Amino acid sequence: MPPESPVPFRTAPGFAALGERFFTRLQPTPLPSPYLVSVAPAAAALLGWSPQTIGAEASQPDFLDTFIGNRVPDWADPLATVYSGHQFGVWAGQLGDGRAIRLAEAERDDGPWEIQLKGGGLTPYSRMADGRAVLRSSIREYLCSEAMYALGVPTTRALAIVGSDAPVRRETIETAAVVTRLAPSFIRFGHFEHFAAREDHAALRELADFVIDRFYPACRDAGGNPYQALLREVSLRTADMVAHWQAVGFCHGVMNTDNMSILGLTIDYGPFGFLDAFDANHICNHSDQQGRYAYSQQPQVAFWNLHCLAQALLPLWRDTDAADAADPEAAKEAAVAAAREALDPFRDRYAAAFFRHYRAKLGLRPLGGQENEDEALLTNLFRVLHANRVDYTLFWRNLARISGKDASADAPVRDLFLDRAAWDAWAAEYRARLQAEQSDDATRAAGMLAVNPKYILRNHLAETAIRAARDKDFSEVDRLLAVLSRPFDEQPEAEAYAALPPDWASGLEVSCSS
Ligand code: AMP
Ligand code: MG
Repeated sequence: MPPESPVPFRTAPGFAALGERFFTRLQPTPLPSPYLVSVAPAAAALLGWSPQTIGAEASQPDFLDTFIGNRVPDWADPLATVYSGHQFGVWAGQLGDGRAIRLAEAERDDGPWEIQLKGGGLTPYSRMADGRAVLRSSIREYLCSEAMYALGVPTTRALAIVGSDAPVRRETIETAAVVTRLAPSFIRFGHFEHFAAREDHAALRELADFVIDRFYPACRDAGGNPYQALLREVSLRTADMVAHWQAVGFCHGVMNTDNMSILGLTIDYGPFGFLDAFDANHICNHSDQQGRYAYSQQPQVAFWNLHCLAQALLPLWRDTDAADAADPEAAKEAAVAAAREALDPFRDRYAAAFFRHYRAKLGLRPLGGQENEDEALLTNLFRVLHANRVDYTLFWRNLARISGKDASADAPVRDLFLDRAAWDAWAAEYRARLQAEQSDDATRAAGMLAVNPKYILRNHLAETAIRAARDKDFSEVDRLLAVLSRPFDEQPEAEAYAALPPDWASGLEVSCSS
């Protein structure tokens, strides 16, 4: 075997330090004849690669073999972790990394980066499935991870996609790919639920301590109960994340507790979607017949998921409570009250983040009243957007360019409404609000264009890249990645990527099949 080319990072045990009740060490399962589909320069830079040279380096056999799992380099310590979770509101028992394999943890100045192969082959947690991911879903996850990052939304990252022509059976026969994901940690709510369900409180505590020490050290420094503080902090981060989802029109599609990151990162991109025509109850996942994870439900569902996490963490602060033994009932009540107290700030934090995002999207400064002083304006807006099925992204982008004084520049946004009178009525309300703060058009427009993206990963854009990739033309994946990495910039050569979806896009369906 030729010597390995050096990697620009050192590795550390990371999650592996927790010991083997948390994971299984294993080897990825090889795939034949790997080829590079795409590498993301910005993500590569996180690990220390030069964005200028990574393109060439990633085409080398060493890179391809490593990031499809055909060779385990000496810096790697591959393992799959065990977790459980609630899926569609129902306890699903043990799940675990069924196709994700942690290769290593890179130690970088800005903290750890776990390097994970998704689609790396069977693990003890694969259950009835095949351990693989198909090219289609790998492209979607890869592009969306990097697009969300560029939008400023907390997310796991994606380094590269390496493909193979090995067949993988889904509804039809597709081909395999491995997407390499990066995150400081891939620990989910479901990891905690797993050990709580088994009543393995020692493991539960070890896991919580690991997360606190590495990612939430302030929870211990604050005095008080560190686990309760952890729950509170995770609630706050989750509130921020979901408020940001709503603002950019992102629908996750499968907000099961095993898809909720303990770091408040968007994780596990499957049947996700961005709103095209605004529908408050949009369901992006074809498999979600009840609409449990509809756009409008996401904040509630996040809160519900946090309750599952709270339930899992409860034993920790009960066990530390000496009063527990003396009066178990009282101890239980006290613990539940403490959990409520830790979850409570979610609502206010969500509301604060929500109004902050939407005020920025509207180009408004606070007038100094209540935090929700613009609630009526927003509620009316959502009503007219919903009634007219206005394209969400185009609406905000075009709104930035209207005049605060009169309707002379309204056409680009007004034309998005079937019911022009509905727009006129709302626009009058909006202009009155702008005049109340003596809004300057140019300043407001600049601010709005910096928060209302021009480019989002619409389903049809991903689909176009996927179709080309199936024919071995990966240039569209790269082009889309480049466009989406500057979502707020005008990119005249990429105007077509900002257009309304074509008619054929309405027939696209995304489901849990990936
Ligand atoms: P998801 O709905 O993609 O978040 O997956 C739920 C669970 O199913 C997780 O434990 C995954 O690891 C597992 N899983 C999904 N697809 C596969 C697959 N093709 N092979 C093995 N496990 C899978
Ligand atoms: Mg998952």
